[in-house]
Amino acid sequence: MTKMAYSFSRIKAFGCPFRFKRLYTDKGSEPAGELAEIGGAVHGLIARYRRTCIDRQVEQDPGWIDIAVKQAVSSKSETVAGKIRELMGKFKTGPMAVMDLSIPVNHIEEKWSFDKQWKLLPDWFDQKTRFRAIADFLTIQDRIISIIDDKTGWGQYDDLQLKVYAFCALQALQGENWPLEGVSLKFNLVDQRKVEDVGFYGIDETPAFREEIEGKIQEIEACKNWDPNPAAGACSYCGFHDECPALQKSWEVATRDKEPGFQIQTQEDAERAVSFYSLVERRLKELKTIIDEWVTDHGPVSAGGMIAEKRIKKDWKASSNEDILTALLQAGVENHVIDRNLSISQTTIKKILKDARRMDAIDHVLAAGEVKETVKPVGFYVAKDK
Ligand code: SF4
Repeated sequence: MTKMAYSFSRIKAFGCPFRFKRLYTDKGSEPAGELAEIGGAVHGLIARYRRTCIDRQVEQDPGWIDIAVKQAVSSKSETVAGKIRELMGKFKTGPMAVMDLSIPVNHIEEKWSFDKQWKLLPDWFDQKTRFRAIADFLTIQDRIISIIDDKTGWGQYDDLQLKVYAFCALQALQGENWPLEGVSLKFNLVDQRKVEDVGFYGIDETPAFREEIEGKIQEIEACKNWDPNPAAGACSYCGFHDECPALQKSWEVATRDKEPGFQIQTQEDAERAVSFYSLVERRLKELKTIIDEWVTDHGPVSAGGMIAEKRIKKDWKASSNEDILTALLQAGVENHVIDRNLSISQTTIKKILKDARRMDAIDHVLAAGEVKETVKPVGFYVAKDK
């Protein structure tokens, strides 16, 4: 393999050697999907927010977030804009929106590049670069480095990412605020409004981080067979679906006439099947979009026992719930009949209390109902937990 500059993203991409090779050895371009666009925008906004708070010496500035989000989404598609608004709304009311201005040292999205001996290089594009890192946010206080990585909710989180940034920070900031006692690693789970403590390591434990990183690099450098690995969890945002041999094989098996399609006998088979399901779902979404465009311009299309056409949907909506109740009672419907047919969801209760600025009463109001636990059929969700 030719000389390569590594990073945590590259190490992570090697979870699927085929994708790694297409990206970094063949230098194939991977179309940036919506998830990457949303993640990039949210990361950029959070970094700018932190710098703004520090520059202005304010602990928080929700108004700045509102204005910055409005500007950031103006050129985005409705789906992407909606998701950015949602995530930044959660960030605004989450624990990391309040900056601790008493912390003396903050580093926000600082770029570091290192040579083979892990010596910090002066330039990000230095010819001798062997590893690059950009940590979202790190602080140094009371001889402790805290590494915080913002997560917008997609992909699987890997503690190694925080160890990489911790080790790089120790190499890059040597001399500043030394001696240090330890590193604290955290994920800021933006979509869940919570900070997850991943662990605390004494400084004497950090050399092991380097061994872990070097071990991963050696694995990449020793790789001979760049086989696809659909179990890596990267398939949902991978841009090489069309050329992925594993997915092509799954597609052939599943679409074969008169022969059994998938058979799941091992965990590996099950992982392949879920990965294939995700591909099909994505393809169907793309197909629906282009059929929609065609039908909008040319009218209905009939085939395979189905018709694709635009239909007018009429939704009745009460203009006032109070008027409806009055009308029902006037019609002689008894209270208990109305009560057993009306349902108020937990979401509606939260909306009402939020509107009335009475979220403090949430437990009291929910106590008037009961929690029923049911096992739902298997569903497919975007993987986000470790
Ligand atoms: S679709 Fe999955 S298995 Fe195929 S190349 Fe992409 S990440 Fe690898």
